[in-house]
Amino acid sequence: MKAMAVFPSSRELRLVEHPEPELSGARQVKLRILETGICGTDREIASFAYGMAPGDCAYLILGHEALGEVVEVGGEATSLAPGDLAVLTVRRPCPHEHCVPCIHERQDFCLTGDFTERGIKEAHGYMAEYAVEDERFLVRVPPELRNVAVLTEPLTVAEKAMEQAHVLMSRMPGGDDGSRRRPAVVLGAGPIGLLGAMKLRDCGYETWVYSRDEPDSANFKIVSAMGARFVDAQRHSPGELAEMAGDIGLVYEAAGVAKVSFEVLGELGVNGVFIFSGIPALKAPLEVDSERIMRNMVLKNQAIAGTVNAGHASYKQALTDLASFLRRFPSAVNAMITARVPLEGAREDLLRRGGVKTVVDMV
Ligand SMILES: [Zn+2]
Ligand SMILES: [Zn+2]
Repeated sequence: MKAMAVFPSSRELRLVEHPEPELSGARQVKLRILETGICGTDREIASFAYGMAPGDCAYLILGHEALGEVVEVGGEATSLAPGDLAVLTVRRPCPHEHCVPCIHERQDFCLTGDFTERGIKEAHGYMAEYAVEDERFLVRVPPELRNVAVLTEPLTVAEKAMEQAHVLMSRMPGGDDGSRRRPAVVLGAGPIGLLGAMKLRDCGYETWVYSRDEPDSANFKIVSAMGARFVDAQRHSPGELAEMAGDIGLVYEAAGVAKVSFEVLGELGVNGVFIFSGIPALKAPLEVDSERIMRNMVLKNQAIAGTVNAGHASYKQALTDLASFLRRFPSAVNAMITARVPLEGAREDLLRRGGVKTVVDMV
């Protein structure tokens, strides 16, 4: 079968002819991949900044955001049947018996770092014609979500962030209910930020998106279409953002830019919660207003959490929420995928970002 792969040692990115995977266990499921999303992580892997091939292979097949159609199931697989649509999760548990999160199938909290990730770390991904996976790592997709289900994996990042925010808000009397009456801010208007903003809008938050995107960009239009407010980070400082938004109760960071993130953290309100999900490139140390941030953290009961990857429940929640987004702001959801390219055309987008979300159409 054809697949898009990176060769980390020879620094190549190209199509390969890879053996078609076959069922080797009774609970396995074989999928024909229909669509695979391209994201910033894929672009980092394609530029050899990240990514590890499986031990027995010179290359890594890319792709971790995929929608497939079941073509074959093992004798003991009960949750899926041929013809069903399914999305695939990314991270697989580490082999260590002492890793409590992995034992509980929460490898997104793995303690050892010895997990694998399909399309990212030591396991082939889904930018290929077929994939085989244990049914535990698949989630069935309702047919009506066929055109948007490829957005499930990036949405799970926001789902887990909101799960963490919920835990932190539960410290306070009134829990989420009290927080929902205060404005929420999303940093960044890339796919993860936009999907996070949709999640906040769907939960009833007055939502402000703070981003460097141009006011005539597709990203800006999506923000408007979901009923969120856009603040141009090129023209307005974090202090001005706080003046406009008011008493910020929650920040969902999805930009991966440390400087602006810490500046916005300095504007967080009383009992506020700040969730980091972006991964900045390592640079020289940064000067931040550390005394002010520390004073606020203590005197305003603030909480910060970082979040990576997501568990199975976040995938189920993401599919439920995608259906809700489609009902409430269909034009915003449908505008997310700005290009569909054939597998042969994926290389160009992996090397140069364009639009909001490019999807590799395998069919
Ligand atoms: Zn991704
Ligand atoms: Zn583990």
